[in-house]
Amino acid sequence: MTVALVTGITGQDGSYLADRLTREGVEVHGFAREGATVAGSSLPAAVHVHQVDLRDHARVGSLVAEIAPDEVYNLGGISSVAYSWAHPAETGLVSGIGAVALFEAAHAVQEATGRRVRVVQASSAEIFGTPDRTPQDEGTAIRPTSPYGAAKAYAHQMAGIYRSRGLDVSSCVLYNHESPRRPETFVTRKITAGAARIATDGGGVLALGNLDARRDWGWAPDYVDAMVRAARHTEPDDFVVATGVAHSVEDFVRLAFSAAGIEDWSKHVEIDPRFVRPVDTAVQVGDAARARAVLGWAPTVTFEEIIEKMVENDLEQIHREVAR
Ligand code: GDP
Repeated sequence: MTVALVTGITGQDGSYLADRLTREGVEVHGFAREGATVAGSSLPAAVHVHQVDLRDHARVGSLVAEIAPDEVYNLGGISSVAYSWAHPAETGLVSGIGAVALFEAAHAVQEATGRRVRVVQASSAEIFGTPDRTPQDEGTAIRPTSPYGAAKAYAHQMAGIYRSRGLDVSSCVLYNHESPRRPETFVTRKITAGAARIATDGGGVLALGNLDARRDWGWAPDYVDAMVRAARHTEPDDFVVATGVAHSVEDFVRLAFSAAGIEDWSKHVEIDPRFVRPVDTAVQVGDAARARAVLGWAPTVTFEEIIEKMVENDLEQIHREVAR
């Protein structure tokens, strides 16, 4: 039986990956921070959850040795750029050095057992900062502009270094990927939850930051699928995972309010400087040609469909709460 270890099991991607791997009959172990709440409703009962702080490198090492996984998915860490500006040192320890501790532990298992351990690093478009070319691909200069991006860039480069030491590490450079399991710290869920609330209450205002930022938004389960494909592909490599289409935050707002039944969104949105970042990349859009050609991966859900699914979920959630 394949044994998989997933860090960040309680997060959006971790919970979708747990669903997928348990469906396939994989034995799933997950690392979770103490007190972490599960994105979505709950994890499959078969998942073995271990409480670990990714800054506790000794414990990470001993648990990985004990579990002796065949596949390791490093999804854990600080997931929000906004949070990283307030907690830069913690971000470096968890998302940067924490990844290296995991690669080291996986490498040790491989050396001890003589069995290949396949690792996927969930990297991020933030490693490119303000990119020098659009769309970005695996050859784009790594030049982060946020504490989150810098920590992810270090982990991405260390993935390459471990690859050259003989560990099968693929780094998936993930562009924004969303779902109803996103927390409201991300702009997409903040907008869909806000639009659903305003539509239900018959009024109200949503405070946002930069509406002009353009992002390449995809569907989270598709990005989980790309990571599984990367783990199981014979040749580890770097893979950009993106839809190739960018939309503005304003486009997202307009479609989300419309899906909630409100055509004039502008009456319900105000700009609050608290949500405007010190540095914000104007446009991020990825070229996933390598993932498409090598992994046979393709996104399956459109931008409009993502928004519809998220708004529908938020409206249902409000109706359930009201009915209680
Ligand atoms: P990120 O791309 O991983 O940082 O994902 P986010 O969903 O947090 O942010 C996406 C974009 O939305 C960024 O350009 C933000 O500056 C912009 N944005 C505008 N208003 C807000 C807001 O109120 N909250 C957040 N989180 N982002 C916002």
